[in-house]
Amino acid sequence: TAKQQGKAGFVRYVDGMGEPVLAHMQLGGELRRALDHDEFRVVYQPIVRLDGNRVIGVEALVRWHHPTRGVVSPAEFIPAAERTGLIVPLGLFVLRETCRQAVAWLDEFGPDALKEAGLNVSARQLHDPDFVSDVAGVLADSGLPCERLVLEVTESAVLRGQQVSRALYELDRMGIRLALDDFGTGESSLSLLRAFPAAIVKLDKSFVDGIEIDDGLPAAADARQAVARAVIQLAHALGLDTVAEGIESPEQVTALRELGYTLGQGFHLAEPMPAEGVSRLLARQQAAAAGSSSFGQAAG
Ligand code: C2E
Ligand code: MG
Ligand code: MG
Ligand code: MG
Repeated sequence: TAKQQGKAGFVRYVDGMGEPVLAHMQLGGELRRALDHDEFRVVYQPIVRLDGNRVIGVEALVRWHHPTRGVVSPAEFIPAAERTGLIVPLGLFVLRETCRQAVAWLDEFGPDALKEAGLNVSARQLHDPDFVSDVAGVLADSGLPCERLVLEVTESAVLRGQQVSRALYELDRMGIRLALDDFGTGESSLSLLRAFPAAIVKLDKSFVDGIEIDDGLPAAADARQAVARAVIQLAHALGLDTVAEGIESPEQVTALRELGYTLGQGFHLAEPMPAEGVSRLLARQQAAAAGSSSFGQAAG
């Protein structure tokens, strides 16, 4: 059957055997089948205050629960989903799921527990002429207030011309907050911030790696911190929020706080987890706030 062919093709692809282009096409078919069979799941990585670890938001990240391979990471299938266009229905699934879950958290824990929920949007979705109305429809159906939704886009996606730019301005006008993801890795990060209605910049992990290392130089001469420092200064000047990505150690938290970062995301703070894991963190946080004025712990 076609289903078995698809499966065989995918196995060939992941084993690195066979013709890559053919394998990609088969992966595309496999993704369509996976969507029909409800094999995608959404996990949520907390976004945390760097002083006290309070969870203020989440980023939704998609996972593929493959029947034989187990959990497949998005790096392995998002590119194929973009090429084949399957990212459009898959992205809509992630959006619906995230909005539904965010409303469930708001209902359970109240409006102050979780400020916002974010998810990644690819260029292909922004090109889809129905994207803005789809987002409006999902927000209306779920009851999630627009200002609680964050859509993360990369610099390269933003630079894809008129249609994308129009979509981004419409989303911004609706009150949805746009985040520039992996910020600093693109070729024109700075000029982009002027031309694009961003509310948040997410400092890419590559500028967090090594930020804690003390070169023994005066702060201003420390090349390892130069981009992180420039980004926060620019963000402050433009009135944007910042999130530092990929924080893996307490020393990085300290270094980022010294530079003025207040929000972060990373394995040291909290790993991506199923919705129930976030619910437990929010419950603990609420209990801690009720019991004393101290903050709950996001990790551990
Ligand atoms: P991203 O949007 O930059 O997401 C952050 C990625 O970094 C996630 O990988 C997350 O698990 C990982 N991460 C978080 N903290 C740490 C850390 O401390 N150390 C390290 N080494 N990694 C950390 P993930 O979930 O594998 O996603 C990879 C990329 O796939 C995402 O990068 C995003 O670009 C894309 N992606 C994920 N879900 C979706 C989706 O629903 N739609 C679209 N279009 N793209 C998605
Ligand atoms: Mg992201
Ligand atoms: Mg990112
Ligand atoms: Mg990144």
